[in-house]
Amino acid sequence: MDPILSHLRARQSEIVALIRAMVECESPSDDAAAVNRFVGLVSDTVAPFASVKTFPGGRFGQHLVCEMALPGSKKNGRVLALGHSDTVWPMGTLRSMPFREAEGRLWGPGVLDMKSGIAFFIFAVRALRELEIPVAKQVLLQLNSDEEVGSESSRALTEKNAGRSKAVLVLEPGTGLTGKLKTARKAVGRYGLVVHGKASHSGVDFEAGASAVIEMARQIGVIAGLTNMKRGTTVNVGVISGGTRSNVVAAEARAEIDVRVLRQKDAVALEKKLRKLRTIDRRCKLEVTGGLNRPPMERSPGIVHLFQMAQKLGRELGVQLEESLTGGGSDGNFTAALGVPTLDGLGAVGEGAHAVNESILADRIADRTTLIAKLLAAV
Ligand SMILES: [Zn+2]
Repeated sequence: MDPILSHLRARQSEIVALIRAMVECESPSDDAAAVNRFVGLVSDTVAPFASVKTFPGGRFGQHLVCEMALPGSKKNGRVLALGHSDTVWPMGTLRSMPFREAEGRLWGPGVLDMKSGIAFFIFAVRALRELEIPVAKQVLLQLNSDEEVGSESSRALTEKNAGRSKAVLVLEPGTGLTGKLKTARKAVGRYGLVVHGKASHSGVDFEAGASAVIEMARQIGVIAGLTNMKRGTTVNVGVISGGTRSNVVAAEARAEIDVRVLRQKDAVALEKKLRKLRTIDRRCKLEVTGGLNRPPMERSPGIVHLFQMAQKLGRELGVQLEESLTGGGSDGNFTAALGVPTLDGLGAVGEGAHAVNESILADRIADRTTLIAKLLAAV
């Protein structure tokens, strides 16, 4: 058996104990103090073999950057391991969703997305140290505190650290119960549409009114028509509101729109179409806000090369790794858009991210951790 794999198999219970400690340290994005407690837990765990720095996250918790001390003499170039410390789960979720081990899985808020991935990376580094496997590159771990809410305060730091890296390894969970790696992610955009109409009494003065609700209904038809499944473009009008009373012609209506696009040029074209929406009732006015939040992670030759390297290393472990495309964004979108080869989905294998069945497969802990270790040594 692969020596790293057998080393890590023997440490399964230690890895599980760290995952448990991490899950039980809740860290919702909007609770900076809680996220900082989690950042403290990670810092303390890696402190014996890393130099640790924190960066202010504004209204969010601190971002964490750790440089790992690894075997091998002179370091040439850098590899960035990327993750996030925040979760979507509010404080107190543990009461209804406690950490537990059952049915061959570990369960709990944030276990899949993405606390296990962080634990895997830490044990991968420890294995490389304990087995004295040389690593040619400087290895940084960066954990952002605001990934689940758009990465507004961490984006610049991510881009700075990625810009000087040979590769970025994203510790987000794999896809599905086979743990496919992610070689492409769609761009994510969030838009708002406000329709300004003209209010009037629906009984006395109906024709004097210009209904923002009717106009919005027509615009939704136009916007929904921008979806193009063939090109991987989806436009979802997810939230609408408008009007005040049934006997008032509505003066205002609002919509929130989520956009996912595979290619940057499609994102630009779609943005143009949204900005150019025209009223059907000329008495109404349209106001479009928002924009692209994350660029697409396009499947570049550098990404394919990195994936093939992972596939080869996986075969040495008896694991057949596949690749996947996802509509969900991550901080890997930013690093890939800089042209830095980025391989995503290297974290846990499981299901139920952001859902009550969030869980990871216990018998995939050792091979995923080994894969990360082997990639760090091979890149
Ligand atoms: Zn995540």
